[in-house]
Amino acid sequence: MQITIIASGSGGNATLFASRGTRVLVDAGVGPRVLAQCLAAAAMAGARGSTSDCTSGSTSRSTSEWTPDAIVITHAHADHVGVAARYNKKHKIPIYASEATARAAHLGDPERVRLFSPREPFAIGALTFSPRPLPHDAAQVALVVDDGARRAALVTDLGEVPPGLLEHVAGCDVLMLESNYDEDMLDAGPYPQHLKRRIVSARGHLSNAQACALLAALPGGTHTVALMHLSENNNRPDLALAAARDALLGKRARLLAAPPRGPLVLDTAPPPGAARAPIAARQLGLFPGM
Ligand SMILES: [Zn+2]
Ligand SMILES: [Zn+2]
Repeated sequence: MQITIIASGSGGNATLFASRGTRVLVDAGVGPRVLAQCLAAAAMAGARGSTSDCTSGSTSRSTSEWTPDAIVITHAHADHVGVAARYNKKHKIPIYASEATARAAHLGDPERVRLFSPREPFAIGALTFSPRPLPHDAAQVALVVDDGARRAALVTDLGEVPPGLLEHVAGCDVLMLESNYDEDMLDAGPYPQHLKRRIVSARGHLSNAQACALLAALPGGTHTVALMHLSENNNRPDLALAAARDALLGKRARLLAAPPRGPLVLDTAPPPGAARAPIAARQLGLFPGM
């Protein structure tokens, strides 16, 4: 299974999961053109020798025409659902959402909207999605995506780590986890008090420290951790990565921070040497250009 993070943060979220001919976009915070540009960039990086291969299986279609087979929406906030209706209308692909999300968001033609239960696994082609409700100020789910060989968890937009979440993501090859804000930066930053209160509330976003508490408790088996949905105003990648590095110290994992705009390609197969090398400061991975 190949994962391409197209965008992550309040400016838009979209992550592509691909395995054995099935390509599913989770969240539609960017339009088809940005998606195509990111996939072209990822494919070019692949040609230069990275692990990028997100267009495999679609050789008959150019990247400018590229669309996923389906879209799964995690929740009804604009940075996740923004252009879902456009994909529905123009590309006529199914949009999967919980009933609460479908009620709260405009997803386009209801004929192509597929409802899922926030606690029941569902399959799209080669991929199985296992949702779990998260505390947020919209009905939100964590997703574990499984292609039968590898598992990856996508966990963003949560005010706190709910009971059972650790067990839900335990053993996933890849964990994409929100690390939204640094408490001191938010506190000293320009946001109005009501917005600060919303962010730190139990239905807001996850701080670096809260993300670290989950990472420190993570059992073995996860070889790649990507920090997601970093605030551009209340966080810095180096702060989030340094905190997460401390939480993961001694664990056998690769650590990266997702940029606001990708592509960041994650392979769910363990990287060479990861099984032998516990994390240390020099192994920190920053997306080029950050
Ligand atoms: Zn969000
Ligand atoms: Zn949200």
